[in-house]
Formats: sequence, C-alpha cells, structure tokens
Amino acid sequence: MTLLSLTGISKRYGAVTALDRATLEIKAGTLTAIVGASGSGKTTLLRLIAGFEAPDAGRIAFAGAEIAGPSAFVPAHRRAIGLVAQEGALFPHLSVGGNVGFGMDHRSPDAVDALLDAVELDPAIRSRMPHELSGGQQQRVALARALARRPKLMLLDEPFSALDAGLRANMRQMVKRRLTEEGVTGILVTHDQQEALSFADQLAVLEEGRVVQAGSPRELYLQPRTEMLAKFLGDALIIEGIVQSGETDTPLGRVRVGRATADGQVRVLLRPEQVRLVSWSEGTPTAEIVSASFEGPVTVVTFRAAGVQFTLKVPSADAPVQGRASIVLVGTGHVIPQ
Ligand code: ADP
Ligand code: MG
Repeated sequence: MTLLSLTGISKRYGAVTALDRATLEIKAGTLTAIVGASGSGKTTLLRLIAGFEAPDAGRIAFAGAEIAGPSAFVPAHRRAIGLVAQEGALFPHLSVGGNVGFGMDHRSPDAVDALLDAVELDPAIRSRMPHELSGGQQQRVALARALARRPKLMLLDEPFSALDAGLRANMRQMVKRRLTEEGVTGILVTHDQQEALSFADQLAVLEEGRVVQAGSPRELYLQPRTEMLAKFLGDALIIEGIVQSGETDTPLGRVRVGRATADGQVRVLLRPEQVRLVSWSEGTPTAEIVSASFEGPVTVVTFRAAGVQFTLKVPSADAPVQGRASIVLVGTGHVIPQ
C-alpha cells in the first residue's frame, strides 16, 4: 500500500530551482534512502513532505489524502510526520525529558523513560541539558522526541553525518530496529552510499532536483540508468564493448550481458568485485600490472589490458603486484542505456 506519493513536485527559491518535477512513491512499512550531491534538493524534499514549505507545482498525497497541492495544504503539526534534522535540533533550554515530552498528548515520566529506553539511552539522563550530551546522544534524543508524537512517517535528514563511523553504524541499526518495530515508515537522507545501500528497501537518487532513479538498492547498484549514477553508488569500471548474441567483447575479455541487448557498440558497467585478477595462464585475457598500492584489506592495482589502462581495488590477500595476471570476469555486465 502506498503511504506517500510525490507527483511532479517543483520548488524554486528566487532563481534557484531546488526541486524540478520530482516524483516518488513510498510504500507503507518500508525504509527509503535518498542520496544525491550537496545542493541536489534532499533537504527541500523533506521539508515539503513535513509541511514546512509548500510546493510551487505538483501534489503530495499522504495516507490517502492530498496534503499539498493546488487545492490543499495541511500544516506540519497536522501531518503525522516526524523529522529528525542533521544536528542542533534539540531545544537548548529544555532538559532531555522536556525535549522528549514536548508535544506529547499524554505526557508522563514513564512515557518519557520508555522512549529513552527505546532509543537505547539510560533514562537517568532525563534531567540533563542538551549541551551535556554527546553528538550521538543528542541524535537519539531527537529521534525519541520525534517518535513521541507517534508519526506514521519518519524523516531523517543526514542524522548520523556528524558521528564517527563506528557510532554511525550503531545508530543506523538502532533506528532501523525502532522504525521496523513501531511500524513507522522511514525516509533517510544520507550522503553515505554504503549506508544507503545497506539501510533501505528503496533507494532514490536526486540530481539537480529530479529523482533520476528509484528502486531496490540492488537494482540501482547493478543496473544504474546513467554512468553518473553508476559512479555515484560505488567504484565502477565502464568499458567499451561490442555485443553479439548476448555477449560482449571488451578489453577485459568476454562478458555476458542481458539477452535482450541488441547487437552493436555499447558501454558496459562492471563492479570491481566482478573482475578477478588470477595467476597468469596461456590464452586468457591478460593484465599487465603497472602499479600496486597496498591499502590494508584492498590493494589498488593499475593494469593495462588490450591497450587500455584500468584501476581496480582487489583483495590484498591475492593481489598481483607486478608482471602479468589473467582476467576472469564474473556475473553479467550491465549495458548502460544510451
Ligand atoms: P541538499 O539538502 O541536497 O544539499 P537543499 O535542498 O538544501 O539541498 O538545497 C537545494 C538548493 O536549493 C540549493 O541550491 C540551495 O542553495 C537552495 N535552497 C535551499 N533552501 C533555500 C532557501 N531557503 N533559500 C534559498 N535557496 C535555498
Ligand atoms: Mg541537506
């Protein structure tokens, strides 16, 4: 069942077009990650969904009713939508308990404690002030405060970006558990591609105010619509190839592509994990190693194949560092649409 649908949403600030006919659908009970370069319109999109701004064009429907559009505008406090902003979102003059209890219909110490517990905070901190908390604790309190209003949809605007990597992974798991257990639908804005790929059921990419692709993380990672998207979501080898009957000849060797691909010249995406460099043997596509730079678990190997130079991260344990290696391609290459 669709919980939220955005249809052709545009928003301008003076001469700047922040959103340009953005269209997106969110199913109830799912987690969607939104990624995009800085300035691509991510925060604006969340502010429109939350009701802090009105679109210049398009409609937003939520739980079966139009909440923004030519004939309707439901104000933020009447939408069952919570928002956790990037940082500094707590009321500085209110204690932790005061922040969490703010806006609660039936405020009680027990309810506040239960929410603090739910976001894995010790309820004993209820009387502390926001400036007495670490960054991670502040974000947990902000989440507890947003959950207190029992939203159907939770918007999270890069809530972990100020935290270090270990804490970030921790918070991500906690948020996911919390939303899933409370049956709250979630939208997470992040600039961390790994976070987006692992957090979400759906991934949507914004580019200059437009949703350029939305789908499962797997689909976007393996079958991006554009080269820009391919590179945005991870390391990418994009190579020229000639298709004949569902196979492509490339400088790295022959690779399978979708059977429906028409014969002719194409550009093919391979993810680094699809390219293996193994001990050299006669008659195989050959990589001449140009350089190898050790980086711990992976080694960055630059090599030439059929006159073309490539750079690839390979597992250090069996990375070739000089001489030549054979290239083995695994899986299917993705032909990038022209
Ligand atoms: P993101 O969150 O993806 O970094 P934003 O949604 O914050 O992007 O901004 C999208 C564009 O809209 C940017 O060019 C930004 O400068 C502009 N913008 C956002 N909010 C305002 C505002 N209140 N006034 C003027 N320009 C704005
Ligand atoms: Mg932003």
